[in-house]
Amino acid sequence: MIRHADPQRGYLSHKREIDEAITRVLEGGRYILGPEVSQFEKEWAQYLGVNQAIGVANGTDALELALRALEIGPGDLVVTASNTAVATVAAIELAGAAPLLVDVDPETLTLSPARLEQALECNRDRRIKAVIPVHLYGQPALIAEIVALAANHGVAVIEDCAQAHGAIVDGRKVGTFGIAAAFSFYPTKNLAALGDGGAVVTNDAALAERLTELRVYGWRARYISERTGMNTRLDDLQAAILRVKLRYLDAENARRREIAAQYDRALSGLPITLPSRGRGEEHAFHQYVVRTSERDALRRRLAEQQIETAILYPIPIHEQPAYRGRVAISDALTVTEEAARELLCLPIHPALSEANVQRVVDTIIRSLAR
Ligand SMILES: *Cc1c(COP(=O)(O)O)cnc(C)c1O
Repeated sequence: MIRHADPQRGYLSHKREIDEAITRVLEGGRYILGPEVSQFEKEWAQYLGVNQAIGVANGTDALELALRALEIGPGDLVVTASNTAVATVAAIELAGAAPLLVDVDPETLTLSPARLEQALECNRDRRIKAVIPVHLYGQPALIAEIVALAANHGVAVIEDCAQAHGAIVDGRKVGTFGIAAAFSFYPTKNLAALGDGGAVVTNDAALAERLTELRVYGWRARYISERTGMNTRLDDLQAAILRVKLRYLDAENARRREIAAQYDRALSGLPITLPSRGRGEEHAFHQYVVRTSERDALRRRLAEQQIETAILYPIPIHEQPAYRGRVAISDALTVTEEAARELLCLPIHPALSEANVQRVVDTIIRSLAR
């Protein structure tokens, strides 16, 4: 069986160090927001090149907390894409705001700056307060254009970096472009805990202080709530595990890029669309996503050969039962809907061998030749 992602291998590859870290936490006696969390927050901020990181319980909470700390809530609109984890849109509603979904760029499948501009130009009642670009699949969104448009219209940018730990644009890591950025450390992500975890990062000291208060009931001093906050804490076991994993993130992302290059070489020239790369970008290859009108047949053939694939995401948010007909869309989401019918995520994770990538490739070539 060739797995599409393999969190267990992610543990076994670093078992000795992770087991040691776990024992250190268990014996140390501090389990929530303790010394491992503060240390991880420092190391994560330093890795990204931002002033502060605030550890939270998961990526969804990271987005919600960022919105709340920016005082975005009831009556406000937040622009994002519809081809994302439900988490992105759920977080907007959890904060009390309403999502406004716009179409994506046909090349990158990330938020279209042109569609964003259209939405911002119709924003006469100034209800749009923020935009959440998603660096989908580890590919940086068109972030420079989005940041410029948002600045022109006085709208905040919160980056959803849940799939893009370590992705780079023009020498800068994603997560350093917006006023804040949200990360998830869910076990399948590029930087993965062995449970839930997340973080918000920012360069803004005042915002960091609000994030820190709102993370725990709005406390400034213990037991005194200055504002109504959340309860979204990172625990020391996960932080200690993340500190081990962080040391290998760059090497593991490099391995993902090697696998992607092997797929690129072997699959170019076939009647399938390969993932695009922007100039000056380092893709983190959380997913390697191809597109074909024969998607479902190809997926079946791969499954017959014990090759697991995934579809991220099969149903755009605006077509999901919980959101359909209710969530605001700015225009037709044609590119989003078409991509959902055609995309397929091939196996990619740092422990995937060259021989297994070749098996995937051979199966695809045989399947497309039928
Ligand atoms: C994983 C993910 C999230 C949510 O993270 P959780 O830790 O699962 O809450 C948010 N956005 C995107 C794009 C994701 O892939």
